[in-house]
Amino acid sequence: MSNDTLRDLSQNPLVQRLGVPRIPVLRRHVPGAPLLDGPALVGTVGGGTFADAVRALLKNEGVAEAAEGKVAGVVLDATAARTLDDLAAVQEFLTPAVRRLAPNGRLLVLAPEPTEDPEAAAVAQAFDGIVRSVAKEVRAGATANLLVVHPDAPPAALDSSVRFLLSGRSAYVDGQVVHVGVPVGPEQDPIGMDAPAEPVAPLAGRVAVVTGAARGIGAAIADTLARDGAVVVAVDVPAAGEALAAVANRTGGTALQLDITAPDAADRLLAHLRERHGRVDVVVHNAGITRDKLLANMDADRWNAVLAVNLRAQLVINGALLEGDLLSDTGRIVCVASTSGIAGNRGQTNYAASKAGVIGMIRALAPRAAARGVTVNAVAPGFIETEMTARMPLGTREGGRRINSLRQGGLPVDVAETVGWLGQAESGGVTGQVVRVCGQSMIGA
Ligand code: NAD
Repeated sequence: MSNDTLRDLSQNPLVQRLGVPRIPVLRRHVPGAPLLDGPALVGTVGGGTFADAVRALLKNEGVAEAAEGKVAGVVLDATAARTLDDLAAVQEFLTPAVRRLAPNGRLLVLAPEPTEDPEAAAVAQAFDGIVRSVAKEVRAGATANLLVVHPDAPPAALDSSVRFLLSGRSAYVDGQVVHVGVPVGPEQDPIGMDAPAEPVAPLAGRVAVVTGAARGIGAAIADTLARDGAVVVAVDVPAAGEALAAVANRTGGTALQLDITAPDAADRLLAHLRERHGRVDVVVHNAGITRDKLLANMDADRWNAVLAVNLRAQLVINGALLEGDLLSDTGRIVCVASTSGIAGNRGQTNYAASKAGVIGMIRALAPRAAARGVTVNAVAPGFIETEMTARMPLGTREGGRRINSLRQGGLPVDVAETVGWLGQAESGGVTGQVVRVCGQSMIGA
C-alpha cells in the first residue's frame, strides 16, 4: 500500500466499475531489467541521421523492432524535418504509432534546433506543441518527451538521454523538452551509440556530493547514485546527524555535518572532498527549506532564510568549485529547483524567488563551466510524495497529486533517477537545462 490510497483502490475492478478511472502504476527502473518491456518502433522523417544510432542502441539493449502490434517504445528521428510537408509525414508516422503504444510506453521525438529560415523554424518549434500535447493524450503511464538536437551533436551525445527517456528511470518525466548539444569540454567522447549496453553501474568510479541527504529527496538521491556505483558524500545539518550517518552507512560513503549557509561552508566542503576523496565528479544541490507566508505578511527573516539555503549557498559553493581544481573534467552540477520557481505559488514568493533564481544561475553558469568539461543543470520537481506533502491538508494534497498527465504524485526516486542521468559523464551534451520531474503538471507547464 502506498500513501496514494485512491491510486491503490483504483486498481480494483469493482472500484473501476463504479466509474473511478484506473490510476496507472508507473514502470520504474529495476537494476538488471531490460530498457523497455517490449519491442520498439523507430522511424524517421526527412532523412534523419540519428535513427540508425538509436536502432544500434536498442539492439545492444536487446530490444527488438516490431513492424506491427503493441510496442513499448516509439522513437521518431525528425532532426532533418524542415518543411510543412515533413510535418505531414510526422503525423502520418505518429498517429498509428501512438495507437500501438503499450501501457507505460515511451514516445521519444528527436527534433532539430530552429534555424533562421521561417518555415524551418516554425517546423522545429511545432515539435514542442506536438510532444507536449501527445504527452497529455497517451494513457496508462505512457510518457512523451522531446530531445532538441544541435546539428553538430555526434550520435554518442544522445546516448545517455535516449536511454534515460526510454527506461523506467524517467517514470515521472513527461512532456519535457531537453536540448542536447555538442558535449562540453576540450575532447569529444569517441564512443558511438553502438557502445555496449548500459552498465549496471553508470556512475561507477564517480564521487558525488549530495546536500540535504539526511532525508526525503536528498536521501533518495544518495541511495540512487550509490546504487549506480557512485561514492556518495552525504551532507546535512548537525541536527540531522543521526539520520545522515544512517544514509552514509547504508550507501557506503562519507558523511559531512555542515550547515551550507555557514560562512566557511564552501571551505569545509572542499576540504572534506580533498582529504577524503581527492576529487568530486557530481555535485547535487538538494538542501532546501520553505518558510511560507503571503508577501503582505512576509518578514525579512523568512525571506532571507529561504534565499540563504536555497540560492546563496549554491552560488557560493559553485563559485568555489569552479574556481578550484577539485571538480573533475567531467564534472556535473545538478541543482534542485521546483515547479514553484516556474509557475509561482501562493504564499511562496521567497521560495519561488530562490527556485527561479536557481534556474537563472544554472543558465549563466553553464556556458562558463563548459570550457572545462563541466555541465550545470537543474531538476524541477513537481508534487513529490514526501513527509512534507503527506502533511498537507487532504484537499490540497489530492489537488496537487492529480493535476498532471500521470494523475499521481512522483516519488523521491523519480527525482533521484533524473539527477543520476544528468550526473553521468556521458551526459556532457546536456547543459543549462531545466528538467521538470512533475508528470507534466499543469502548474508550470
Ligand atoms: P526535506 O525537508 O525533507 O529535506 C531537506 C533536507 O535539507 C533536510 O534533511 C534538511 O536538514 C536539509 N537542509 C536544510 N537546510 C540545510 C542547510 N542549511 N544545510 C544543510 N542541509 C540543510 O525536503 P524534500 O522534500 O526532500 O526537498 C528536497 C529538495 O527538493 C528541496 O530543495 C526542495 O525545495 C525541493 N522540492 C521538493 C518538492 C516536494 O514535493 N517535496 C517539490 C519541489 C522541490
